[in-house]
Amino acid sequence: MITQRVDENIYEVPADMKLIKVEDKILNFNMKVPARIYANEYLMERISKDKSIDQITNVACLPGIRKHVIAMSDAHQGYGFCIGGVAATDIEGGAISPGGVGYDINCGVRLLKTGLEYSEVSAQLPELTEGLFHNIPSGLGSKGKLHITPTDLNQVLDEGINWAIEKGFGYDKDREFCEDHGFTQGADSSLVSKRAKDRGIRQLGSLGSGNHFIEIQRVEEIFDDRAAKIMGIQKNQVTMMIHTGSRAMGHQVCTDSLQEIDHLMHRNGIIAPDRELGYAISGTKEADRYLAQMRAAANFAWTNRHIIMHWARETFQSVLGLEPSQMELIYGLAHNILKQEEHDLGNGMRGMVNVHRKGATRAFPPGHPDVPDKYKEIGQPVLIPGSMGTSSYLCVGQEKAMDLSFASTAHGGGREMSRSKAKRQFWGKTIKQELGKQGIVVRAASLKILAEEAPLAYKNIDEVVGVSHNLGIIKKVAKLIPIGVTKG
Ligand code: 5GP
Ligand code: MN
Ligand code: MN
Repeated sequence: MITQRVDENIYEVPADMKLIKVEDKILNFNMKVPARIYANEYLMERISKDKSIDQITNVACLPGIRKHVIAMSDAHQGYGFCIGGVAATDIEGGAISPGGVGYDINCGVRLLKTGLEYSEVSAQLPELTEGLFHNIPSGLGSKGKLHITPTDLNQVLDEGINWAIEKGFGYDKDREFCEDHGFTQGADSSLVSKRAKDRGIRQLGSLGSGNHFIEIQRVEEIFDDRAAKIMGIQKNQVTMMIHTGSRAMGHQVCTDSLQEIDHLMHRNGIIAPDRELGYAISGTKEADRYLAQMRAAANFAWTNRHIIMHWARETFQSVLGLEPSQMELIYGLAHNILKQEEHDLGNGMRGMVNVHRKGATRAFPPGHPDVPDKYKEIGQPVLIPGSMGTSSYLCVGQEKAMDLSFASTAHGGGREMSRSKAKRQFWGKTIKQELGKQGIVVRAASLKILAEEAPLAYKNIDEVVGVSHNLGIIKKVAKLIPIGVTKG
């Protein structure tokens, strides 16, 4: 397939026929729309190394696909869809593919501000980091400190953070600063399998492992004074970022759904361009079943981050005497989710589409109805973590996102190296020492995790964010650097 550079930061594979080997037959698939990669030369070189581009051209063959399929600047190969992938399909008759959401349904990020300056916190960083590690269960298969009943779990799945706020976690006003208000409508807990519930029930309020983290940060640079002022952040202020998802609950929902959908496709004799690209047709009962379960898992994840946020606030209170209500939520968002939204579909058409964001962050521009009132004039806050040793970015959605990316942007640096390659290349102990020299305190469940998560295992975050900023999809507001990191 030919990839053309059509603009400084836009590469495109034009819509074309694709010959794909399925089992032992060569089949003809038709890309209905072009596939685009938002990148510069540095990123394109990396994105081209794995199957990402092939994966977006496969997605471009799905039924009811609209306008273009996109690999964001952080793209790397994933299950069926690349991570950093965005695709929109028709509400009636378009494909709904669990691989376009991923296994960690509603993995996402929250950012809180403390109102404290770096100098007021620096001496207590080891204690704070240790405190977060102890107060928030983490690690592979980690279980929460909560003991909730099956009825509670169903409420979490159906109502998201509304359950948690009622139980005394966080504050009413946190809702306003969460995407979907921390409650995705249209969930149905009764459709979620017993297996998913059994795996999930003890994991509510746990971080998980690896890429998931709680990070204390310092605002290193402000790029946009007006937006920073509205968000209430300034240079040297201390912020905290939380990154986790729906744990085994989401994983099991995805597994269950893929299995059901694969059976369905087999029964109906439908062949997808890739074995990993199983899909149901939007509007059918099978697609609705997936959506209702996916939304339930999304509610689990909203609530998981909410409870973790509550315990993190308590940790700051016990170590620094900071009132929990003074640690205000700037914003909380999802980066693995499917949303039904209205978009410009090209050629003067507008309509509702299924927007798959897999490792992609929603980035609504100023004035969009779903942007909280406080941020209406600057756009939706966008949080893009880098790594435990480099910068992360706070940005805002911009107008071009509507035309270029179904209001989406990158979600992180994106892996450059597999976990196994990173483990061969780096020593956890050395990484920890190097971070220490940069003034970063890290606490992880194991040294192995630190090797897998080495900053150089991710793509350069400045480049990744720079591409979206240059395209006018987002605008940079602040650069945040890690000072205390807790890894699962
Ligand atoms: P994912 O959702 O794909 O697992 O991860 C999102 C992004 O988080 C990754 O692409 C990576 O750039 C970033 N990331 C992973 N670990 C850390 C960390 O410890 N701190 C920060 N700030 N970012 C991280
Ligand atoms: Mn994530
Ligand atoms: Mn995740």
